[in-house]
Amino acid sequence: MLTWKDIIHFANNGGPSPDKRVEKTEEEWRALLTSEQFRITRKAGTEAPNSGDSCSAHDAGKYNCVCCNTPLFDSSIKFDSGSGWPSFSQPIKENAIKYIKDVSFGMIRVEVQCNTCDAHQGHVFPDGPEPSGLRYCINSESMKLQE
Ligand SMILES: [Zn+2]
Repeated sequence: MLTWKDIIHFANNGGPSPDKRVEKTEEEWRALLTSEQFRITRKAGTEAPNSGDSCSAHDAGKYNCVCCNTPLFDSSIKFDSGSGWPSFSQPIKENAIKYIKDVSFGMIRVEVQCNTCDAHQGHVFPDGPEPSGLRYCINSESMKLQE
């Protein structure tokens, strides 16, 4: 299980390598995605809280990257954080997610990206439930549920 110590280590030193890589040009991504998906995943945008329908959904399944379809999270590790964004306490696999130190807006945060295609997913915080203590705060537009 990953803990905040692992996340900081990955953000500072690089994390585990993905199983595969998917790389496309900006124009290729634009053709595949809706404008909102493109803004969030390829331009590190953030959706308004409670805007995505996957926020309160508790359907069983895997949450895949909307860009490259790699499984990132599982519904069994989803929890309701009350933040207005889908929240998870662990990634589906240790090497599914890439961690980037984000110093924008005068804060030090850890950005989470798809490790396969670098799609922006959201941020991870150390205030999640035990035992991991992690809260992955993810844009619902960055994922699609595979039931
Ligand atoms: Zn991806």
